Amino acid sequence: MSKPIYLIDLDDNVFQTKHKLEMQNKKAFKTAALDRQLKPISFLTHCQSNFIDWLLKNADVIPVTARGTEETSRVDIKFNSWKIMTHGAVITNPNGNPDSDWKNHISKELSRYQDVLHNKQQILTKAFNDNNVKAWARINYEYNDLAIYLVTKHTDRMLLHEMYDIADKLDKKYGTDGFYIHRNGNNIAWIPKCIQKGLAVEFLLNKLKTEEKGIPVIGFGDSISDHTFLKQCDWFGMPKSGQITSLLNCQIAKLEQKND
Ligand SMILES: [Mg+2]
Repeated sequence: MSKPIYLIDLDDNVFQTKHKLEMQNKKAFKTAALDRQLKPISFLTHCQSNFIDWLLKNADVIPVTARGTEETSRVDIKFNSWKIMTHGAVITNPNGNPDSDWKNHISKELSRYQDVLHNKQQILTKAFNDNNVKAWARINYEYNDLAIYLVTKHTDRMLLHEMYDIADKLDKKYGTDGFYIHRNGNNIAWIPKCIQKGLAVEFLLNKLKTEEKGIPVIGFGDSISDHTFLKQCDWFGMPKSGQITSLLNCQIAKLEQKND
């Protein structure tokens, strides 16, 4: 009998920051990830910790995360299988080495995006400075110096609208051809269309021959961008609160109102 594969998004799905725990009136049980200064930044609740322990014991657990390889290395959970990182730009095998076929494919696809990503970063940075908005725009790199995608964050989570306003204006002015935009709280990312969790999952499931071998594939994720890989799973789920959950709850409430 084959163990099932669990494809799991990490942040806000199986662990979260202290701030988000407090918003939900929940307690931190265990450190889940460290920040750049190697201080605890994300935490598991008791329930999440039990769930992860059970998963690791009973299934092949593959993280599917927006985190880059360096950021994922600061996650304090003993994953020992494949990993899909940087929104799908990187796939590493259980030994921790990048899959070379996927690396070649992504490097080729991203060559035409290199200048565009750097230009977008400069334009955004200038607009934030000119408008005195305390936000920053950063390019995330992989495979040494390959630009993968652009992300902005505000230093004050009470002023997110300032960052969103500027992003909206610039997108309108310069267009977003070839990109999709991931927006979730204090995070706007411009991601080349070839970089997608769903595409990386499709490649890996084919490589592992899950369908041929009858291996059950189960997915968990909280963001709308997770749907690209969740829809390829035999079953999928989401945390009690999150972006997909809110959308689903809202749609079901509308249907129920219609039926009343
Ligand atoms: Mg997430």
